[in-house]
Amino acid sequence: MDRKCALITGAARGIGLATAKILSDRGWAVAMVDRDAPALADAAQVVPDAHSFACDVSDPVAVAQLLRDLTDQFGQLDALVNNAGIADFGPISETDFDRWRRVMATNLDGVFLMSQAALPALKKSRGAIVNIASISGLRASTLRVAYGTSKAAVIHLTKQQAAELGEHGIRANCVCPGPVRTKLAMAVHTQDIIDAYHDAIPLNRYGTEDEVAAAIAFLCSAEASYITGQILAADGGFEATG
Ligand code: NDP
Repeated sequence: MDRKCALITGAARGIGLATAKILSDRGWAVAMVDRDAPALADAAQVVPDAHSFACDVSDPVAVAQLLRDLTDQFGQLDALVNNAGIADFGPISETDFDRWRRVMATNLDGVFLMSQAALPALKKSRGAIVNIASISGLRASTLRVAYGTSKAAVIHLTKQQAAELGEHGIRANCVCPGPVRTKLAMAVHTQDIIDAYHDAIPLNRYGTEDEVAAAIAFLCSAEASYITGQILAADGGFEATG
C-alpha cells in the first residue's frame, strides 16, 4: 500500500470515529474496529475508503484474527490507536468483581492485547501506538475506582511500551481526554459532575471529539517522530491547574 495505514478501535462513534475521519482526511488508509458491527458499518459510510472490522478488543482470539485479516488486506500497519473504552462509575462498596472485570477487560486488557498482536506489523513499519486514557487516570476522584484505575494502568502501560519498543523504532504515547459529550460520558456524568467539570476546567467547557482526535492524529504523525512515552492531556487545562 502506498498510503500509511492506521487502525482505530472503538471507531463506531465518539472520539474513535472523529479520529478515523481526521486521519482519513490527512491521507491515511483507515481500519475502523468496534464490537458494535451495525453501528460500525454505518460509521464507516462517513469515512472515505475506510475498512471496518468487527472485533471485541478484550477477546484474545478475535484480536489475533483481526490482525491477520488486517495484514491480509492492508499489508502493513503504521499506527495503532487504542481508543475502545467503557465507563462504569460507582462507589467502591458497590463495584462488584464483575463490574470491575468488565471495565478492566476492555480498557486495560484490550490495550495490551491489541498492542501485542500488532507488534510484528509495527516493528516492520517502525510505527506508532497511541493509547487513549483519561484525566481520571491522572487524578483520583470519587466513583471512578474501576475506570480511573484502568486508565492509570493504561498510562503506565504506555510508558512500558515506550521503554521497551523504542529500540524497534516504535513510539508509544498516551492521550488523556477531559470530558467530551459522547455516549460514554453522558451515561455517567450526572449534573453534579457536569457542573464540577465546568468549574474546574480553565476553558470552562467540555471538549469536542474533534479536539481530542486532533491530538491523537498529531501523535500518529511524522511530526511527532521524536516524541515517545508522553502523556498528553487534551482537557482544557483541568490537570495543569487542579
Ligand atoms: P463512546 O462510547 O462514544 O465510543 C466508544 C466505542 O468503543 C463504542 O462504539 C463502543 O461500543 C466501543 N467499544 C467498547 N468496548 C469495546 C470492546 N471491548 N471492543 C471493541 N469496541 C468496544 O466513547 P468515547 O468516544 O467517549 O470514548 C473513547 C475513549 O476515550 C475511551 O477509551 C474513553 O474511556 C476515553 N475518554 C472519553 C472521555 C469522554 O468524556 N468522552 C473522557 C476521557 C477519556 P459499545 O457501544 O458496544 O460499548
